[in-house]
Parts: sequence; C-alpha cells; structure tokens
Amino acid sequence: MSKLTAIVAGGGIGGLATAAALAQRGWAVTVYERQDELRAVGAGIYIWENGLRVLEALGAFDEATADAFHGTHFEQRDNSGDIIESAPIGGGNRLLTVPRSQLLAALANVCRRADVKVVTSTEVTGANARGELFFAGGGSAVADLAVGVDGVWSKVRETLGLERSHEQTVEGALRTMVAAAPGDFGPNDLGKYIECWNGARRFLVTPVNEQQTYLALTCPDTDLRASAIPVDKAVWRDSFPQWIHLIDRIGEFPINWGVYSVTRCSAWSAGRTAIVGDAAHAQTPNLGQGGGMAMQNGLAMAVRLESAKDRRDIPDALEAWEAGEREIVEHCQRWATLYGEVTHLPDDVRTRVIRGAMSDPWVAGQIFRAANHAPLGTSPPN
Ligand SMILES: Cc1cc2nc3c(=O)[nH]c(=O)nc-3n(C[C@H](O)[C@H](O)[C@H](O)COP(=O)(O)OP(=O)(O)OC[C@H]3O[C@@H](n4cnc5c(N)ncnc54)[C@H](O)[C@@H]3O)c2cc1C
Repeated sequence: MSKLTAIVAGGGIGGLATAAALAQRGWAVTVYERQDELRAVGAGIYIWENGLRVLEALGAFDEATADAFHGTHFEQRDNSGDIIESAPIGGGNRLLTVPRSQLLAALANVCRRADVKVVTSTEVTGANARGELFFAGGGSAVADLAVGVDGVWSKVRETLGLERSHEQTVEGALRTMVAAAPGDFGPNDLGKYIECWNGARRFLVTPVNEQQTYLALTCPDTDLRASAIPVDKAVWRDSFPQWIHLIDRIGEFPINWGVYSVTRCSAWSAGRTAIVGDAAHAQTPNLGQGGGMAMQNGLAMAVRLESAKDRRDIPDALEAWEAGEREIVEHCQRWATLYGEVTHLPDDVRTRVIRGAMSDPWVAGQIFRAANHAPLGTSPPN
C-alpha cells in the first residue's frame, strides 16, 4: 500500500512536532513555512513534564534539553522583593527551560531524520476540507491530510470557518535574552525561576543555560513606556531595582513585544483538514503551556490517525482525536487565563490571593494538571 500523505502549514514548534509524529508513523509529510528559514520567535521557553514526555517520544529530548537549566523552585516575589510563594519543582514532574532556537532545531532534526520535506518561503493563504492548502501567488497542494499549524492568525482556521473566538489580552510581553555573568544571582536566587511583581508590571527571570538568561517583561499595552521598543530601561530599573544588572544588559539579543491571543474553535477539523497548536487553542502564557499543548496535540493526532487505513478513515480519526484531547486543552486555557487575572490586583491583594490559591491543594492541582499529565503517545507515569 502506498504511504498516506500529509501537508502541514507552519514550521513552528507545533508544526514540526506534528510532522515528525506523522512521518515516524509512516506518513509522507511536507511542511510549508512562510519564513525563509525555520526560525523561532521569542527567546526562551518553559517545557513542563508533559512537553518533555512528548520530546522523549519524538526522539528530540536530548538535543532540545542539552545544557538546559534545571530549576528547583518557581518563585513569585512582591514589589518589595519578598517571597510570595516558592513552589518546589520535582516529585517526578520536571520543568526545564531552554532557548527556543534549540527546541526548534531539535524538532527540525527529528523531522529531517524522518524524511519530512520542509519548504520555506511559502505562505499558506487558506485550505479546504479535502486536504488542500492554497499558497500566496497562486497554486495549491493536496494530500490525504492537511494540517494548519500556522499560529494565532491561522489562515487555515479562518478559511475553514472553524473560529469561534479570537480574543487578545490587554497584557503583553517583551521577550529577550541577556548574556549570563558570574554573580548575577545571589544566594537566595540560585536554582530558581523568579517572577517579580510591581503593580501591573512583571519581571520574569529565567536562566536557560550557563551562557544566557531569558527575560520576560510583562505589562498592559496601555503602559506605553514599559512596552516600548527599544526598551525604556529607566522604567524597568525603577520597578525592579534588584535586577538592574540584567536590565542594563538588554539590547544585545533580539527583542519582541506582543499581547497574547486566546483562540477557541467550534471544531479542530473539517473533513480531512485539521488545526493544531495556537491555530486551534492559543492560550495566555501564564502557565507556560502553549508550546507544550501544541506538541502534545500534534503527537496525539498522529497516534489517533494510526487507525486510518486509507483517506476515508481520516475524518473519523480526527474527530476521535479532538474528543480525546479537547478537555485537557480547554482546562489549561481556562486556568492560564485565570492565573493572569492577578495582574490587575493591587500588590497586597495579589500577594494574599496567590498565597491563598497556591496553599490550596485543589487549586494547585488544577494549575499544574496539564503540566503533570502523560500525553497520548508518551510513556505512562512511573
Ligand atoms: C510571551 C509568551 C511566552 C510564552 N512562553 C511559553 C512557554 O514558556 N512555554 C510554552 O510551552 N509556551 C509558551 N508560549 C506559547 C508558545 O509560544 C506557543 O503556544 C507556541 O509557539 C505555539 O506553537 P505553534 O507551532 O502552534 O505556533 P507558532 O509557534 O506561532 O508557529 C507557527 C509557524 O507557522 C508559520 N506561519 C504562520 N502563518 C503562516 C502561513 N500563512 N503560511 C505558512 N506558515 C505560516 C510561522 O512563521 C511559524 O513558523 C508563550 C507565548 C508567549 C506569547
């Protein structure tokens, strides 16, 4: 029997994970990417247990996490630098942080080993339910399966008419790397991911390896000085004086600003065309799960499609995939949004709310539920 064929719009984290998972199951896969090369947007990325399990299942773990920072605590601090909450990481549930470029390169190499064809400089303008993608400048490609993993502004989602809502938040983030230097972290900072609050501004310090530290500076988009590029360092120095040494180093690496998208869809597929990742279920980054969800959903789709013997079986397999995955994804979206609400609280109230919430085992369980589960296609927990 000849191989089933798949075409994937988008060569980001989700697109490459999906392509690799399909190709490893015998599909002939082509990825179409709009940029002139596979290139990560953003600086660093948190990968929780669920995402790490997917990387292991795909064979990308070692490369993606080489030299990764292994934090022992995720800590929130208030406007005086006092600890609000310091959650230990462990007990079989891992969290690693890596440069995005390293994660994307590892996924690209897995794709290469599985004979995925990657076509760059090719913009997808739409799709139909018969597994067809349309390209800017004319022309199309058709396969047994088409997958839109083309991000928050997905043309595949739009042209299939699957979008129920696409909301953009008021809050956004400046993301960049700074070079790491000896003495950056005091004795109370070592081994930690540190999220500092001051009013609606937040300064997230994330070591990713011995050479680089990932910084995420978040604020409402109405805070014009804090959201400006080039970064108005005076504003951020005033708000976070304990991190002046890192703020002063901003500018050496690329920096980008963006508000967040939350996308909800009536369905994740139409006929033989599906959507995965931010195209289908973008969420605010408060739980660091958007990329993890994109990868795990791509893998889950490939696993469900193992039941498809020919193209006529694909629509039912896609429906079974969505039925199996939607609950956990929407749970994660909801809790990521809920967590973000603390941004708008006065400092002292935020401190009380975070402490109260995190000391409640039920609430903590909801927040980390997606992070700690074993996605379809990965090994069950020990
Ligand atoms: C501030 C911030 C911090 C975050 N932190 C984390 C984190 O720590 N951990 C985590 O797991 N997630 C995090 N996320 C979320 C994560 O970045 C996304 O969920 C993830 O990148 C989604 O992957 P994707 O492949 O679906 O989409 P993308 O990564 O957006 O990839 C889409 C790809 O498709 C291409 N493309 C777009 N349109 C077209 C087109 N028309 N034709 C062809 N190609 C196209 C793009 O160039 C891109 O390569 C964060 C997000 C933000 C905004």
